[in-house]
Amino acid sequence: MMRHLIVGGGPAGQCALQTIRALDRDAEISLVCDEPAYARMVLPYYLEGKIEERAVLTADTDWYAEQRVATHFGSRVVAIDPGGGSVALDGGETLEFDRLLIATGSRAARPPIPGLAGDGVVNMWTLDDAKAFLEKPRGETVIVGAGFIAFTVLDAIVARSEKVSFVEIESQILPRMLDATAAAQMAAHLEARGIAIHTGTSVDAIEDDGGRRSLRLGNGKRLLADAVVVAAGIQPNTELVAGSGITTGAGPGAGILVDDHLQTSAANVYAAGDVAEGFDLLTGEQRVHAIQPTAVDHGRVAGANMVGSDVTYAGSLTMNILAAQGLEACSFGDWAGDGREVHTALNAPNRIYRKYVFDGNKMVGGALVGPTLSVTGVNDVGMLKGLVQTGVPLGPWKAYLLENPLDLRRVYVASGAAKQLLASTLLTGSASAGGGFRFPALPPTRKRSKHHETLLEGKSAPA
Ligand SMILES: Cc1cc2nc3c(=O)[nH]c(=O)nc-3n(C[C@H](O)[C@H](O)[C@H](O)COP(=O)(O)OP(=O)(O)OC[C@H]3O[C@@H](n4cnc5c(N)ncnc54)[C@H](O)[C@@H]3O)c2cc1C
Repeated sequence: MMRHLIVGGGPAGQCALQTIRALDRDAEISLVCDEPAYARMVLPYYLEGKIEERAVLTADTDWYAEQRVATHFGSRVVAIDPGGGSVALDGGETLEFDRLLIATGSRAARPPIPGLAGDGVVNMWTLDDAKAFLEKPRGETVIVGAGFIAFTVLDAIVARSEKVSFVEIESQILPRMLDATAAAQMAAHLEARGIAIHTGTSVDAIEDDGGRRSLRLGNGKRLLADAVVVAAGIQPNTELVAGSGITTGAGPGAGILVDDHLQTSAANVYAAGDVAEGFDLLTGEQRVHAIQPTAVDHGRVAGANMVGSDVTYAGSLTMNILAAQGLEACSFGDWAGDGREVHTALNAPNRIYRKYVFDGNKMVGGALVGPTLSVTGVNDVGMLKGLVQTGVPLGPWKAYLLENPLDLRRVYVASGAAKQLLASTLLTGSASAGGGFRFPALPPTRKRSKHHETLLEGKSAPA
């Protein structure tokens, strides 16, 4: 009987575990995780008070018992011996495996800023971080880093703060997701709502000022805050492979190198999710894609291959989708489009921006900005993704799109992108079934959003 060991109970580990169980009813499965099993992606809803803590968790002890998984929660794997087929836990215990999956994710990077470890400074990466922020009294909040993660929690931070400011070292907000024009739309929208944005400057120190935090910026300014949220990038948790011979990428932020089967340089060891440096779907380059869809795909493909299937992963698509303060933004593939054929359309008063990047007749990247209330915008996010992901030749529909940049729908339907997407289903048979809801007793909250009122109760759009 095959013994599978999974390190990490985030989305990558959970998806691998479910896939292994779906394909092999008899396999022995063990899980080691230093945190409870949960999805970080839903932390913004928890922070906003929309869901309770148990809805953040993805499984409980009953579910693991049902799946016959031996769990070791609260333990860390500190060393791996691929040749001997064993791992060492921080408590001194040794666990043996035939196949190992490293799904240890990533952690919030801690830039070397004096005072960063002091009181009143939190990250926004773990459930404990979210709890620490909720314990702080309402006041002024400064967010260090205006990247994707900061924006996923922005609405929750605004709801719990008297004033919010961003400090971003790059010359624009969302520098790894949007171009300067799109970022300027987002920034103007936030500034109109009272959010202060300081770009192109560093935080050089965080000091105490009568019990409050005083941030000394590189441009000479000072900001006072009651809470500082640091969202300045991530670092894959690769330390456990030190000395194991398992290969990692080069440079800061490197992950564990995996092939198109999610196998590491050790034949019996796989890696998946934020910790893995897998292939990019469009460029074929190896890089860490620290997003949930990649973690899910990686976990499922790794799980299938660990039980002996032969599933090749085509690679993951660069994508970022967010909504903050009533404005949505997304980007896919080569959204920057440097050196490529790029077409843009801008309606600044309504904060609508579209960018399409082409390689000949194929769309290889794009970005959208638009109001959250716009149903067209919401639908188009998925269509843009489908066009970039499949790379279907657009034929005459490319010219049509350039003339009608707000009508992606006809292009999407006519190009047959949906059919192509069906063909890219990762796994077949029982392993392709969704996990379903594990907590059926949790009812949805009944509170209607302001968007519901606008759409269904005939009220005018909120400002
Ligand atoms: C606030 C927030 C919002 C986000 N929103 C989005 C979003 O909207 N869309 C999106 O695509 N992505 C989003 N993400 C990113 C997404 O959550 C991650 O990409 C995803 O969690 C990665 O899954 P994973 O399983 O690889 O790693 P993780 O979820 O990090 O899970 C890894 C687990 O392994 C544990 N672990 C680490 N080392 C060890 C060890 N040595 N021994 C035992 N256990 C260990 C970790 O503590 C952790 O519990 C968000 C993240 C955050 C924090």
